[in-house]
Amino acid sequence: MNGRKELLDIKNYSDNMQTTEKRKNLAVDLLDKEMRKKYLHTEKHGLLDILKVMYRPVLKNGKIVVASIGYAITDGILPLLSVLIVYVLVRLLALPDAMPKRLILAAGIYAIAFFICSFVSSQLKHRNYSFFMGLRLRNLSKAMEQFMTMDYGLFENSSFLDDIGNWDRSLQSNNAGLEGSYHRIFDMGGTLVSVILLGALLILVSPWIALAGVLFVSVFYLVQKNITIYKHERREELKKVSRRSDNYTAKSSDFQYGKDMRVFQMKGRFQQAFTPLLEAYEKLYRIFTLRELHLSFLESAALVLIDIVSFLTLIFKVQNGTITISEFVMLLTAVTLFTQSIQLFAQGLAYIKSETLYYGDTIDFMEADLVSTGGANHVNGPVSIEFKDVSFHYPGSDAMVLENLNLMIEAGEKCALVGINGAGKTTLVKLLTGLYQPTTGKILINGEDATTIPQEELFSLYGVVFQEVQPLALTIAENVAATDLNINRNRVKESLKKAGLWEKVASLPNGIDSSMLKMIEDDGVILSGGENQKLSIARALYREGTQVMIMDEPTAALDAIAEQKIYQEFDAILSGKTTLFISHRLASTRFCDRIILLDGGSIVQQGTHDELMKEEGLYQTMFLTQGKYYQADYREVTA
Ligand code: ADP
Repeated sequence: MNGRKELLDIKNYSDNMQTTEKRKNLAVDLLDKEMRKKYLHTEKHGLLDILKVMYRPVLKNGKIVVASIGYAITDGILPLLSVLIVYVLVRLLALPDAMPKRLILAAGIYAIAFFICSFVSSQLKHRNYSFFMGLRLRNLSKAMEQFMTMDYGLFENSSFLDDIGNWDRSLQSNNAGLEGSYHRIFDMGGTLVSVILLGALLILVSPWIALAGVLFVSVFYLVQKNITIYKHERREELKKVSRRSDNYTAKSSDFQYGKDMRVFQMKGRFQQAFTPLLEAYEKLYRIFTLRELHLSFLESAALVLIDIVSFLTLIFKVQNGTITISEFVMLLTAVTLFTQSIQLFAQGLAYIKSETLYYGDTIDFMEADLVSTGGANHVNGPVSIEFKDVSFHYPGSDAMVLENLNLMIEAGEKCALVGINGAGKTTLVKLLTGLYQPTTGKILINGEDATTIPQEELFSLYGVVFQEVQPLALTIAENVAATDLNINRNRVKESLKKAGLWEKVASLPNGIDSSMLKMIEDDGVILSGGENQKLSIARALYREGTQVMIMDEPTAALDAIAEQKIYQEFDAILSGKTTLFISHRLASTRFCDRIILLDGGSIVQQGTHDELMKEEGLYQTMFLTQGKYYQADYREVTA
């Protein structure tokens, strides 16, 4: 009953998300462990449920179904052929007039049958291998899509990351997880046919042998299931350790960290942090191995039981004359092969149980609704923005970044947001674009609470040029248009011209169709830091429907004078759009109608540059201090 109630609760939560006026705030809501448990793991997936999901696409492909059956028959029949040839040969040898010709004929027929079956089964297996790989890759692509669309704030929720940390465990390898299970199940078709054929033969002699076989499979499966579930229950713990240790391993070989690591001799500190993680990992594995050791005793006992029952039955039957010597030898071979097949089958079942448990985590992740949908209000025309008593701290941290912030930006206004590094400028942009929601207070867009506007619509209002500019390994046109569909090439060209990058792009042999970066094409274009920033500006300009342009210090790689020049050029090409220029360098934004100075999470001064310079305050102090560093250059530019 309780489980059912929980399911209903979570269903209500999801339903609310669809219909509520406000967007949910998953980055905050999913900090809670219980909530996360209900939200991410709505259902416990039984083995059959998972197999149903796995085999939906397989059953739709008649060719694969036929191949699987064909493989099961041709592979499964092989042990029976061996049993039969043993019987035939022993019988022929026992005849008083044993003729080598007959023996050779029998062996020849066996060899041909064996060759045909194993050739066909091997062809079927290898020809269909890539189909299952394709299914895994499609799952991987779906999971990647989830990562690219899920709420941004969830990336910073480390408990959430630990929780979903196993999403990729079942999708990263040909030989494990989802694909490994497909291959194993394909193989197990053959093993199952062998078990059935040999089991049927042995049942004719004694049902006890087959029963012992069933008992063995049950014991083996239950033991392995116990170990698997135990490991799976502790997966979050394991992931917590491995995610952290993986981070250290990756950084130790990362070229970008190489300089700091050496110059500051950070090796010792690194290892100091890494060693306890390794020890914790080892400790967890010791616990698992110990459990396996204890339980494996049961498996061996069950396996020996089949042999004891079989041998005793056969010896008894041959002694009282129920079976002949040739039948005895054949059945003995059958028992050996039966034990092998049944062990293989039980191992396969256990493997599938284990691997599909982790695929269950992948399904949970892929199917979870990780986008804070909701919101029914729409925005039309030019945009005004108002921050009303906005306070904010990052989910999972108590430090207030913004406190009771009040700010009005009229539609079409060009404002500058300035402040020292760490003042909260980027955080303000993250709140504005809806990447995070205020902890308290509201952001109003044209008077409407931003949390009542659907996230996608909110995103489409903004053209943001972020600080970190990362072109992708696509063509220049695709980077500017942020798509490969229906690219308006003229618009790409115009945007590049406005951003001041056209000359450079036009000089490239393939123009806007040049590939970027070298990781895919050897002749990929590498742009300088400043050029990358211009590319990113072109992307913001290309976007249609943008109402608010935000420049979040994308010019950090340039000097203050160049930054000012770009900001002024940018200002000139924007007509009528609400614009926010962000910088920690006051000289860059002095041309703006209004300058807002942020300090310690609050607005401490605002006005034009001249007004602020007249006030004896932080702006004046900062401007004069910063000015000392580039006064000479500055005089040159403004002269
Ligand atoms: P600015 O853009 O003005 O340089 P930020 O908005 O990036 O400043 O940062 C403001 C404050 O918020 C800083 O104290 C920073 O340490 C903190 N901060 C930034 N990002 C995060 C985060 N993801 N989690 C926790 N604190 C953060």
